[in-house]
Amino acid sequence: MLSIKNLTVEADGKEILRDVNLEIGDTEKVVLFGPNGCGKSTLFKVIMGLGDYKIKKGSIEVGGKSLKNKSVDKRVKLGLGYIGQKSAGIKGLTLDTLMKQYDFTYEEIRKDVEELNITEFLDRDLNYSLSGGEIKRVELFTLSLLKNLNTYLLDELDSGVDLENIERISKYINRVAKNKSIVLTTHTGSILKNIDVDTAYVMLNGQIICKGAPKKVWECINNQGYEKCVTCDSRLK
Ligand code: ADP
Ligand code: MG
Repeated sequence: MLSIKNLTVEADGKEILRDVNLEIGDTEKVVLFGPNGCGKSTLFKVIMGLGDYKIKKGSIEVGGKSLKNKSVDKRVKLGLGYIGQKSAGIKGLTLDTLMKQYDFTYEEIRKDVEELNITEFLDRDLNYSLSGGEIKRVELFTLSLLKNLNTYLLDELDSGVDLENIERISKYINRVAKNKSIVLTTHTGSILKNIDVDTAYVMLNGQIICKGAPKKVWECINNQGYEKCVTCDSRLK
């Protein structure tokens, strides 16, 4: 269970997240919608303890344990896995090496490698000289090496990925994250075609203003745009 209560966050003296409340149950799959700049990526980074953000108020807990003052690797040990919009390349580190460091034999990871179609990237420097879509597949694979993860935070995993590969990564996520919680963001909604999400939230100006059934919320956004959310009768107070 990932539990966020009254989370208010600043960066550079500017309030970016305001009183965010989110409860994500074990195995619950959640999509977070919102226009550019509303604070989605900031929320993910703050959950992971990344970036230069100041928590003014509120709490984040995983499995009842507070994340306050916890390093990024402690958060990963508590079960949080994250794929951000931008991924740093690491020269000199290949997936082959990484896999061995985690004591996996090729036989043990073969299924994942084949499903993600990343065989040809195994001996390449991590996230170097790969296209945006290829990086996403490689990143998903690296999460699979961390068997303790209980929550996947996936920030725009489908952007820059062609349709065939969106289907590929969606199927893969359905298999490996079946018993995990997922929070994902998407602008195109294309990843939702193959991943069944339980709940949708909408964020505007750093606040969660809507919670609902994913298909219904997505339809509303597509038909009316986010501007309508501002005056929506069902807006959360
Ligand atoms: P989203 O992912 O929803 O598009 P972000 O979380 O990336 O939005 O950004 C939310 C807002 O906060 C944007 O206006 C962005 O410019 C601002 N912001 C994010 N991180 C910082 C930072 N470290 N310093 C100053 N402003 C930031
Ligand atoms: Mg973002």
